[in-house]
Amino acid sequence: MMSDLEQFRAETRAWLEANCPPEMREPVRTEKDSVWGGRDQSAMTPAQKQWMDRMGERGWTVPDWPKEYGGGGLSAAETKVLREEMAALRCRNPLSSFGISMLGPALLKYGNEAQKKEHLPKIARGEIRWCQGYSEPNAGSDLASLATKAEDKGDHFLVNGQKVWTSYADNADWIFCLVRTDPTNKHNGISFVLFDMRTPGVSTKPILLISGYSPFCETFFDNVKVPKENLVGELNKGWDVAKYLLGHEREMISGMGLGGGGKNPLIEGARKTIGLDAEGRLADPLLRAQIALFEVRAKAFAAQSERFIDELKAGKAHPAQPSMMKYYGTELNKSRHELMMAAGGSDELEWESEASDGGREARAWLRTKANSIEGGTSEVQLNIIAKRILNLPGA
Ligand SMILES: Cc1cc2nc3c(=O)[nH]c(=O)nc-3n(C[C@H](O)[C@H](O)[C@H](O)COP(=O)(O)OP(=O)(O)OC[C@H]3O[C@@H](n4cnc5c(N)ncnc54)[C@H](O)[C@@H]3O)c2cc1C
Repeated sequence: MMSDLEQFRAETRAWLEANCPPEMREPVRTEKDSVWGGRDQSAMTPAQKQWMDRMGERGWTVPDWPKEYGGGGLSAAETKVLREEMAALRCRNPLSSFGISMLGPALLKYGNEAQKKEHLPKIARGEIRWCQGYSEPNAGSDLASLATKAEDKGDHFLVNGQKVWTSYADNADWIFCLVRTDPTNKHNGISFVLFDMRTPGVSTKPILLISGYSPFCETFFDNVKVPKENLVGELNKGWDVAKYLLGHEREMISGMGLGGGGKNPLIEGARKTIGLDAEGRLADPLLRAQIALFEVRAKAFAAQSERFIDELKAGKAHPAQPSMMKYYGTELNKSRHELMMAAGGSDELEWESEASDGGREARAWLRTKANSIEGGTSEVQLNIIAKRILNLPGA
């Protein structure tokens, strides 16, 4: 007789086979292949929308969130089975969003009932797209020095200030934002608030990157009225919410180290461009050794990631473990793209031609440079690991 989990696996596989459109089983190649949801869904293909909606209806965009908040209500073991079955059928992630990977976990821990009921189901169904208002021109690594001011005006806060590097702020519907509610206390003077990006006084200005893309913005707040009920957690205790959320952000970013699954584009690409020697090995011995070393590290990281996710879901991960995973995963992803560029030779520097798919590889390689900056730099992660995991004295 099948165990409950085996039964769940069989049913899950059958449902995925019947419901995941064929286009949604193709590898993710460009930014456009990722689905972010939001009020404006006009850029989605019919298959993307169908897949997001079908998974959203079952709560499987957020399988381990409680059912009453739009989740699937699955146990840790069932969530893992779903992940494995999706990987086996090469199903794409139906919805990637800051709501799922960052705000949701923070609301589940710190939000009140009304906030959970209002925001979580809309995140699960991809109806509202969120952006993150943390960094400011003078507050990046030292985030707690942020200065965006929120004054108490009775039933609302009046927010004035500026954020920077706000990813996709120009496409986002709502923002989760750190504001200063007490200028006399650095860490215990920060609050965590939510507001609609259509609120009068909010404006965004895209920043152009070296890759030619513009995935983030400067975000300005000019007398923005934020209702008091949009404060998450206690007044002046937003730093706790912010740190908890950052752990989840780093967990999400560490996933870049896994390289997206599917066929191995590094080895496949190198075989094509470099060719094979008489013994069927990659013809360039130096690159061969570098790729072999990389692959060993990538396999070790994948195994460690699996263990990390299990520990995290079981509530047994060290709070600083996401820093370790983020550091290694992002450095690994940068190496992967360096090697892909090396394997491709000068053709990989092609920027606009049809053959290069509009410089897909070169742009992706440049994008990875930001991996070890976003969500906190590698140097900052090393500081956290040194202090909180290795117990070394701080500077
Ligand atoms: C692609 C991308 C997306 C982003 N998206 C968002 C977003 O959506 N929302 C948001 O709020 N922010 C976002 N950020 C901002 C990001 O969080 C910051 O860039 C990051 O925290 C670093 O801050 P900074 O850029 O001000 O650099 P700084 O803090 O000025 O650091 C400059 C350099 O000094 C080093 N340094 C600083 N302090 C120390 C220290 N104590 N020890 C050792 N070295 C140190 C850093 O490692 C870095 O190399 C994004 C950034 C990128 C690249």
